[in-house]
Amino acid sequence: MERVNPATGEALDPIEADDETAVEEALSTAEETFASWRDAPLSEREELLANAADVLRENRDEYAELMTTEMGKPLAAARSEVEKCAWVCDYYAEHASEHLQDERIGAEPGVDSFVAYEPLGPILAVMPWNFPFWQVFRFAAPHLTSGNVGLLKHASNVPGCAAAIENVFREAGYPDGVFQALLVGSDAVDDVIEDERVKAVTLTGSEHAGRAVAETAGAELKKTVLELGGSDPFVVLDDADIAAAAETGARARTINSGQSCIAAKRFIVHEAVYDEFVDAFVAEMAALDVGDPTDVVDLGPQARADLMHDLHDQVERSVAAGATVELGGDPLDRDGFFYPPTVLTDVPRDSAVADEEVFGPVAPVFEVADEAEAIALANDTDLGLGGSVWTADRERGTRVAREIESGAVFVNELTKSDPRLPFGGIDDSGYGRELGEMGIHEFVNRKTIWVQ
Ligand code: NDP
Repeated sequence: MERVNPATGEALDPIEADDETAVEEALSTAEETFASWRDAPLSEREELLANAADVLRENRDEYAELMTTEMGKPLAAARSEVEKCAWVCDYYAEHASEHLQDERIGAEPGVDSFVAYEPLGPILAVMPWNFPFWQVFRFAAPHLTSGNVGLLKHASNVPGCAAAIENVFREAGYPDGVFQALLVGSDAVDDVIEDERVKAVTLTGSEHAGRAVAETAGAELKKTVLELGGSDPFVVLDDADIAAAAETGARARTINSGQSCIAAKRFIVHEAVYDEFVDAFVAEMAALDVGDPTDVVDLGPQARADLMHDLHDQVERSVAAGATVELGGDPLDRDGFFYPPTVLTDVPRDSAVADEEVFGPVAPVFEVADEAEAIALANDTDLGLGGSVWTADRERGTRVAREIESGAVFVNELTKSDPRLPFGGIDDSGYGRELGEMGIHEFVNRKTIWVQ
């Protein structure tokens, strides 16, 4: 599998892909392992997960460097990502038994009726490159602990991360076959989904990939969870703390060099504070350092050349449609795939940056007359992943949060994932939930048992 260092544009050593025989072996190992893993005591599965957290913490810097080399994330952020993976392992190591205990529902006197949570079998996880460790651990921590076994098909540009993650579980002491990485391209995914040994699929990535996977899984009547893109609104109301909104807004847009599904993607600002916000926001965006991700910087390169070109194309089409460039707007003139923090105003509401997911550090800012228009514009998208509302009035914030059509809304905070809270979208952002108790319940048989 070809790899390119996005900070330099130079090829890295390729990693040998798995052939059909290797995939077949992995599938049969998964099936065999599941037969015993499902019956391993939950306490043992929790202990192994706690070990995985230790392995992650011990090797944090090594994993961080690998991410930075393969997809360009600044090192400090990569280290935080490894720590967050350890956190999600800690969380389920401590809470899986509570989430998976039988749930008694007293239906009739004298009857013991309850729901038992049982694992399904081998689950395929199709994962993206943007948080190459976190996205995988968000899947693996709950679902291995509930007794499933995992097959990872990672994005083709991060095969080193895929192999390293497999090794985390090996070093933690997991039986072989509980977690296996398939080093294959997306063309191999349909066959894996169609294989009768695979019981369910989860995908995090683009809407296009989500539709493809859901179609194949649907034909096979296999459960899917899809975490697709977002075009999250960042709503600044007239009573907001503008300095805080501008500072957090700049972080929310540029986190992971702008390549996050829950990044703030559309800034919707009340006219009473519009000029003040634009000035403060442009200043915050301008103050961010872009550069070599192995240095202390805020933004590294975009992960691949094609992604950076698509991003710039979105900016160019929006400018051609009438948008004004307040900051940035052109790829940096250096090796690698660097795009600067970019702010656009006067953005037509049907232009590319308003209408499409913008997966890079480009922020369109829209001016609205009042709260009602802010909500209408926030909801004027087919996507519905997250959102953020800024106001001094918590009740108002809560009310507006309820009106925004998405899987999560944060008031006076950026949208973020947290092991304790469910995470996922509606509409074209996908369906199902990850994390928290709801997450671990996605890939279990919720079995009703009635004892008379
Ligand atoms: P993709 O959705 O193409 O990649 C995500 C994963 O899906 C990868 O493992 C990829 O494999 C796999 N995949 C792609 N197409 C198929 C298919 N037809 N069937 C099965 N699996 C498939 O994302 P890109 O890397 O191309 O990024 C494009 C855009 O997707 C971004 O600009 C962004 O808008 C969105 N995206 C959203 C993410 C999120 O967190 N929600 C994460 C990443 C991207 P392979 O790498 O081998 O193609």
